[in-house]
Amino acid sequence: MMIHQDKDKESSFYKSNYDHLADELKKLDLLIQQQVMAFRLRTQVMQEAVASQKMYISHEEVDWMLNMNGSFVGDHPELQKLRKRLETLQNQISARVTESMRKGVFLALPQLAHFFALSPFELQTVIICLAPELQRKYDKLYAYVQDDITRKKPSVDLVLDLLCGDTQADRWTARTIFSDHAPLFRAGILHTADDLQSPSGSSDLARFLKLDPRILNYLLGNNNIDGRLIGIAQVYGQPTSIDHILVDSLIKTRLLNLTKHHFSMQNPGKKRLVLHFHGPCGVGKRELALGICGQLNCPLLCLDMELLLAHESDFETSLRLAFREGLLLQAALYLDNTDILLKDDDKMKAFVKKMAKVIGEYGWLTFLAGEKSWSPKGVFERVVFHTVKLPVPDMPLRLTAWEKALGNLSVDTKKEFAAQLANQFRLTPGQIGDAAEFAENYRASKNRQEEISLPDLYTACRNQSNQKLSEMAVKIESHYSWKDIILPEKKLSQLRDICSQVKHRYRVFGEWGFDQKLSYGKGLSVLFTGPPGTGKTMAAEVIAHELQLDLYKIDLSVVVSKYIGETEKNLSKIFQEAETSNAILFFDEADALFGKRTEVSDAHDRYANIETSYLLQKMEEYEGMVILATNLRENMDEAFTRRIRFIIEFPFPDETSRSKIWQSHFPKEAPLGDEIDYEFLSKQFQVAGGNIKNIVLNAAFLAAENGGVIGMQHILDGTRREFEKIGKLWDEKNLYKLKLS
Ligand code: ADP
Repeated sequence: MMIHQDKDKESSFYKSNYDHLADELKKLDLLIQQQVMAFRLRTQVMQEAVASQKMYISHEEVDWMLNMNGSFVGDHPELQKLRKRLETLQNQISARVTESMRKGVFLALPQLAHFFALSPFELQTVIICLAPELQRKYDKLYAYVQDDITRKKPSVDLVLDLLCGDTQADRWTARTIFSDHAPLFRAGILHTADDLQSPSGSSDLARFLKLDPRILNYLLGNNNIDGRLIGIAQVYGQPTSIDHILVDSLIKTRLLNLTKHHFSMQNPGKKRLVLHFHGPCGVGKRELALGICGQLNCPLLCLDMELLLAHESDFETSLRLAFREGLLLQAALYLDNTDILLKDDDKMKAFVKKMAKVIGEYGWLTFLAGEKSWSPKGVFERVVFHTVKLPVPDMPLRLTAWEKALGNLSVDTKKEFAAQLANQFRLTPGQIGDAAEFAENYRASKNRQEEISLPDLYTACRNQSNQKLSEMAVKIESHYSWKDIILPEKKLSQLRDICSQVKHRYRVFGEWGFDQKLSYGKGLSVLFTGPPGTGKTMAAEVIAHELQLDLYKIDLSVVVSKYIGETEKNLSKIFQEAETSNAILFFDEADALFGKRTEVSDAHDRYANIETSYLLQKMEEYEGMVILATNLRENMDEAFTRRIRFIIEFPFPDETSRSKIWQSHFPKEAPLGDEIDYEFLSKQFQVAGGNIKNIVLNAAFLAAENGGVIGMQHILDGTRREFEKIGKLWDEKNLYKLKLS
């Protein structure tokens, strides 16, 4: 009894996909048998001569087709018996399929039907096309049933013969499944091919049907990625635990709740879910998608939109193939670099529509990733769209990222380095990983045995800086340090204060919770005022050198545009690009941008359309340091200067300072004559450091040309040239020899 029950149980479901396929072939055999029997029964009523014609079309055959086609043989008892057997087998198959699915046995055919909403008729068509790929006998059988030795492949006509019986109306209705827009062809499950043996070309009915190779593999249980997608798409099969992803935990929880709800039983609406992640490179967009896939226990299929659009003509085909793959692998789709689609031109708009259409058809869960925000209007249908901003992680997350990335270092060093680097650079976890790897490779290339050094890591971090900044700003290599700049002690100590604010930013804002109190203004805004050449740029360089940060001097001639709104756009771009690099932004001649509206001179009129409040807002949002320099403090808008954290006035150097500046400008290696009289130079010439620098350089070249030793005469000649250049009166009494006489 027990044994009998077990046997019953066994036969009530399919143990494997192959068992099911075998049953489907049995059913197909019966269908063919039915067709053969009907054919033979019909031929019995035909003339003997007609029945024997195989290789050419005879008059008799044509007569028979015209007169006898439609003659009904369906009631024949043998056929009825066959039909009964077919019905029984079909019922058995259906029951077993249901039971197998309940037990979680993978059956490819029902899955395929489910994914692409195929009707039983369409699925049966797929089986007809599958059979010759499984057994060669179907080549012969199909040729036999099609009454043509050359027609071994299944055709539209054969499918209709096998599945529709004799009624023309049924056949014509069924033909809709062979249209290009029907699921079988839109999803590329079947392809058609003309009958090459027929020199006059094939009718639609005579077209051959071929199963797509990827679908064939799928039906055989081989679910590897479509060969046509290799190089375009990549599958990430390993589920990632979302806990370890360095993204704000609030964002993670929100996303998990959202996806859980969307795919839960309580939400049977079956709408597509599209999640758009935007944030700087390396912020964890793909990681997050992988984490969500981990929770849903599905793989992630990643594609690059820029790569797809590199071959525009294949765009839709490749995208459709990829999304179909997403269904076959039950993978979510991840489209990276989708910013390219946001361009405001008709071509891109058309591509967006195409993408939306494919997502609407096949995309159960799609991630779109880019750096820019996006709020599509009227693009998607039957799609739930969510956009999520992923900002540069805050200090604690950066700290964790650094500790992870510096895994090889000893615990104490790791902690110390991580704290400094996390504080100094607003890098994303991806960039942190890359920077650590870069520093490690650098160490290895130098064949150094010791651990990675902090300066190497600083260099690596700066390398991660956003290079796009260079389009609108000039990167200044800062070589100056504290020993080079000559300023009154009070000014130097103010500059040191600025540096220490940056160094201890994390402690104050992070550990001591001040960032909770301030929503903006966490960055440092600094204003340097003073006459030209008094060391404002130099001081910015000293700070950048001290803090090991990149310094970018904004090129106002590129940034400022006469077109309304264009300048704001450019500035906004600069701040956005600078965000990740944590660079120091240096705006020279800032009065041109931030000056009083009423007092702008003609030369500055072209800047007059800039909204000061907009600039202020951008500066306050920016978490790095912004240094503004102006020669004319009084020209700065008061409302603006009030919001600046540090204002340092650079004095015109007095005699003592000038003497030091003169001396500091001669390098150790320079061949100096004994008689350089710094006292005379500093007393006699009321010039700023900038001029001194030029004069020294002039003198050096003059000396190189004659004599090879830099003497007082060279310096005096150099000074005269500088005076001439700047339009300053050159007085004969300036001549050193006067002093001597
Ligand atoms: P600013 O930005 O105020 O117009 P810079 O910083 O560009 O002036 O100065 C130009 C050059 O003059 C510097 O590179 C440096 O060589 C020299 N210089 C100016 N001020 C000083 C200073 N206070 N100490 C030492 N050198 C100075």
